[in-house]
Amino acid sequence: PAPIHVIGGGLAGSEAAWQIASAGVPVILHEMRGVPGVKTDAHHTDGLAELVCSNSFRSDDWEYNAVGLLHAEMRRLDSLIMACGDANQVPAGGALAVDREGFSQAVTARLEAHPLVTIVREEIAGLPPAANESNGWDSVIVATGPLTSPALADAVLQLTGEESLSFFDAIAPIVHADSIDFDIAWRQSRYDKEGPGGDKAAYVNCPMTKDQYEAFIDALLAGPKTEFKEWENVPYFDGCLPIEVMAERGRETLRHGPMKPVGLTNPRDPTVKPHAIVQLRQDNALGTLFNMVGFQTKLKYGAQTDIFRMIPGLENAQFARLGGLHRNTFLNSPKLLDGQLRLKADPRLRFAGQVTGVEGYVESAAMGLLTGRLAAAERLGKPLDPPPPETALGALVAHITGGHLEGAKFQPMNINYGLLPPLEAPRQDAEGKRIPPKDRGRAKKRLMSLRALDALERWRAG
Ligand code: FAD
Repeated sequence: PAPIHVIGGGLAGSEAAWQIASAGVPVILHEMRGVPGVKTDAHHTDGLAELVCSNSFRSDDWEYNAVGLLHAEMRRLDSLIMACGDANQVPAGGALAVDREGFSQAVTARLEAHPLVTIVREEIAGLPPAANESNGWDSVIVATGPLTSPALADAVLQLTGEESLSFFDAIAPIVHADSIDFDIAWRQSRYDKEGPGGDKAAYVNCPMTKDQYEAFIDALLAGPKTEFKEWENVPYFDGCLPIEVMAERGRETLRHGPMKPVGLTNPRDPTVKPHAIVQLRQDNALGTLFNMVGFQTKLKYGAQTDIFRMIPGLENAQFARLGGLHRNTFLNSPKLLDGQLRLKADPRLRFAGQVTGVEGYVESAAMGLLTGRLAAAERLGKPLDPPPPETALGALVAHITGGHLEGAKFQPMNINYGLLPPLEAPRQDAEGKRIPPKDRGRAKKRLMSLRALDALERWRAG
């Protein structure tokens, strides 16, 4: 068969190339690092799959942790990233952490040694060249990451339009719906207006008294913040100021901004007007995740959980992801990509990795694994459907290509159980023994993981 081209030899591109070659299809991997004078702001080496920051693939616990489940699924699908990660492990408790140099060298060596892989050190500085019958440019995987080179990013922007490619993320924390205390919080849209999805009670409201608000502002001002790297300098657009920056501008600023209490009535005590209200908005079509409206933040992760659990109704909140602001090139994938991760405007281009709006090393590699398999299957004339949404892999694809709630702003996402179809928390175990309420959430995760691996095996069996 004609080759498939992969642009970018990071986590996603390396995995995609491996999957394509493993399917018996030749692959040409184009990586710009290694060309004299060409670099990114975060990478330091020429190695493939360089880890730009931490050396951790996070939890390796497939039973109770969604990223651990993703590890397990990828291992079952012969992932190069997981194999090289496992072979270069360093001690890290329940997490999978790796020797970053050994890991990157192993990925590079395995790809260099594969007879169907050709690695070309060059920047693709614009849209890929036109396809002819044999050059393979009719099937391209773009896996150029959060620091996609400007020439290629500009070309994609031309093709897709202004609203379609972001250069920064502004992530508000996302909470699992079933961890919100609805004895305190209530559902209502401001002035009962229709929210995204056409629902008049689209928002969840958490009320604060004056004392609670003042204590919250104190905590925001005192909380430790992460610093921007000098090249990262995220511009603070109006509408996405970090909440702690808003609080610094004045103690009342938040009460007149995202925490304004107008147009809302607490059904438990309609006569008392809350001093401030935190709103959460549904984030995914399944209704399992809610984002904290206007709460993008540079607070450190530990501080975020402590401070946000001061909000009445969120005392026991479980966070599917915490807030952040980063330089990050990513597509508005729910609008632009089809279920095969192809660009609707030019289906010869598939996208993989962080640029599709997933977040993290493992998630990026997972999207590489899938696009590699999808592209190879298409090349061999046997198109493949992505795995079902009960799997972590399938849930991620479903989220970025459509599961995200229409009308809500799309921001990058980690894998988490809230992306998988919900399941009732079990009340008894397999032997019929009662599970105490405090352990039911954990038991549910295990059932979701078992369901996922089962669904993956059925998908794999065809
Ligand atoms: P990358 O691994 O960045 O790979 C993209 C590749 O494409 C690069 O090798 C690049 O040189 C190449 N490329 C770009 N443009 C072109 C072009 N036009 N032609 C040819 N080649 C090109 N995630 C975590 O899980 N943990 C962390 O600690 C973490 N820290 C991060 C820190 C920073 C500063 C950044 C920016 C991101 C971080 N991430 C982290 C997020 C993300 O997981 C990583 O960026 C991950 O590497 C993404 O994988 P990828 O394959 O999509 O992109």
